[in-house]
Amino acid sequence: MKVSRVRFWLCKPCKGVYKKENLELRIQLYDVPGKTIVTGTLECARCHAVYQVADIYVGKHDLPRENWEEFRNATGEQIELGTSQSPVGSGAKWYEFWK
Ligand SMILES: [Zn+2]
Repeated sequence: MKVSRVRFWLCKPCKGVYKKENLELRIQLYDVPGKTIVTGTLECARCHAVYQVADIYVGKHDLPRENWEEFRNATGEQIELGTSQSPVGSGAKWYEFWK
């Protein structure tokens, strides 16, 4: 399944914004065409709305783009994962440098 690179998702009923846990790892494990192995549900701690975990990782509830600037200004958080920021990539680069 295609895993969204947006690191935050929005609970619309209560406008709570949550950070996706272990997103880098989830992308490595699940971002494979035809693969859907994230199961289970997740309940909003504030309003008790219930979500499918898979929907959250594919980006169905991502923080909408029109809210990104405001959210970034308020929290200083980077909203999307960069494509070149995988831990594997940066580790390899660092190793080459010191070899
Ligand atoms: Zn909620």
